[in-house]
Amino acid sequence: MTRVFNDPSNFALEAVSGMASAYPQYLKAVHGGAVRATASPTGQVAVIVGGGSGHFPAFAGWVGPGMAHGAVCGNVFASPSASQAYSVAKAADNGGGIIISYGNYAGDVLHFGQAAERLRAEGYDVRTIEVSDDVASGPRDNTRKRRGVAGDVVVFKIAGAAAERGLTIDEVTELAWRANDRTRSLGVAFDGCTLPGAGEPLFHVPAGQMSVGLGVHGEPGVYEVPMGTAAEIADLLVDGVLAEATQIGTDGYSGHCIVLLNGLGTVKCEELYVVWNRVAERLTAAGITAVLPEVGELMTSLDMAGISLTMTFLDDQLEELWRDPVDTISLRRGAVTVRAEREVADDTKEAVAPIIAGSEASQELAATVVKALEIMKQVTIDREPELGRLDAIAGDGDHGQGMRFGATGAVQAAHQAAEAGAGAGTVLVRAGAQWAESAGGTSGALWGSILTAVGGALGDEQPASSEAIVAGVRDAVDAVQRLGGAKPGDKTMVDALVPFTETLSARAADGLALAEAWQQATSTAQAAADDTATFVSKLGRSRVLGEKSLGVPDPGAISFCMLMQAIGDAGLFASCSK
Ligand code: ADP
Ligand code: MG
Repeated sequence: MTRVFNDPSNFALEAVSGMASAYPQYLKAVHGGAVRATASPTGQVAVIVGGGSGHFPAFAGWVGPGMAHGAVCGNVFASPSASQAYSVAKAADNGGGIIISYGNYAGDVLHFGQAAERLRAEGYDVRTIEVSDDVASGPRDNTRKRRGVAGDVVVFKIAGAAAERGLTIDEVTELAWRANDRTRSLGVAFDGCTLPGAGEPLFHVPAGQMSVGLGVHGEPGVYEVPMGTAAEIADLLVDGVLAEATQIGTDGYSGHCIVLLNGLGTVKCEELYVVWNRVAERLTAAGITAVLPEVGELMTSLDMAGISLTMTFLDDQLEELWRDPVDTISLRRGAVTVRAEREVADDTKEAVAPIIAGSEASQELAATVVKALEIMKQVTIDREPELGRLDAIAGDGDHGQGMRFGATGAVQAAHQAAEAGAGAGTVLVRAGAQWAESAGGTSGALWGSILTAVGGALGDEQPASSEAIVAGVRDAVDAVQRLGGAKPGDKTMVDALVPFTETLSARAADGLALAEAWQQATSTAQAAADDTATFVSKLGRSRVLGEKSLGVPDPGAISFCMLMQAIGDAGLFASCSK
């Protein structure tokens, strides 16, 4: 259990603010996360790291001289939003370019990628590095498609050390990728973890078994084997990681390795040391020298019971950077240069344009939009547990929570905009931005783009019309496919969105009233969503556990249908002209 919290939905924010308050010598809390408390030389590359919360020391525990300049901290197990990443990057920038590094997860790739785009549009030189060390999460012939786990420690440390030495952004980027490409991890879990406030763990490992290839978001492992002794666990992990050693090749490999033995949350340090003995024995037998190894909690998953092993097959340059001084809450060695306090601008949030009043007709439509969003919010509250359970089977269990956070934020933003006189378009665009911000995760980014696209089609002048709403839905589906890159059949929400928009367009073109066309579109989409149970997922978090998703429909497709059904049932389209 995660036993200690106030309001579970505020858990991540309270954790970061507590950390910054306890360690003012390391951290300053800013919108979206935290930055170094100490100044950096002008022109130094800024290394920004981040991801969901629930993984301490990831990510704010690694902010400090010799490692990260800033950490973006999302909700528990959910990627942060683009605007969080944007403001942390701006607060941490030193004028030498910005590297944003994070584990390779769909939601993180979407949100951090969007932040990088916005920063580039403002003239910043921004590079992104997706860490992909987990050998259990993808085939050997395409290692950069794998997900990131404790290898984050290595990549962020190498990048931070290179930046501290004053290297250029090209050089730091190359070294960070090199570190990533030479790092491999494998983990086992003995039991699942529980989100703050949840009554049940995201998954259980059957008694007497251990699950090999767990993910750090509570994604269950890839296969199960009988629970072993500490030595047997060490053997399993070392064998799994060394099986990849041949792939690293001899390209400057010195026989030296970074070795991290990581406890995921519930396994204690002394248990890890017992495992370490056998790891060390095996490495010696393999002729490998461990360079400044780390044993302890390096990348946790709330209270998950599990252990992972990470190894980086070093060349001389990477070894020097690993040995360099570092001073963060969680990783410290050597003596770093003492610097003055960093001045952080009060507000690095993205500027929001003032609201321009919409036409009277559009303000009326805006009131209906607010109602529709409130209905959606209620659905996400009522169905949260069900969506969470669906997502826990092959994903990470946060879909219900993400939808509720997103819809709740969207309603609040919509109210504010509507009260300020905005038309329907602006209300939806504001609601979309806030949905992405509040929810994080893959579905948060995609739902943000759905509302934004519908808002664009409705505009702030025209009255409600069937034609504009159908066009908005069509644009929304295009936006989701463009942003997420999914096609029908990949087992994502696209499998429900595409038949929904096709039926809606066709029936509306046949001259059916919007309310009726909507009802039919919802039925078609529901059948298509249910049908995804027969698919193996190819994208998103559940890609890794594709086979496990057989027999279970896609959570995003199901939640989409729930929302469309509720909007249709509410009779909001009565006053809509053709
Ligand atoms: P995360 O996967 O980041 O944990 P959620 O759990 O909130 O985010 O949402 C998961 C849902 O997101 C999936 O069920 C799927 O419908 C949708 N999804 C994931 N990746 C994509 C994608 N590339 N395109 C469209 N939808 C996607
Ligand atoms: Mg999820």
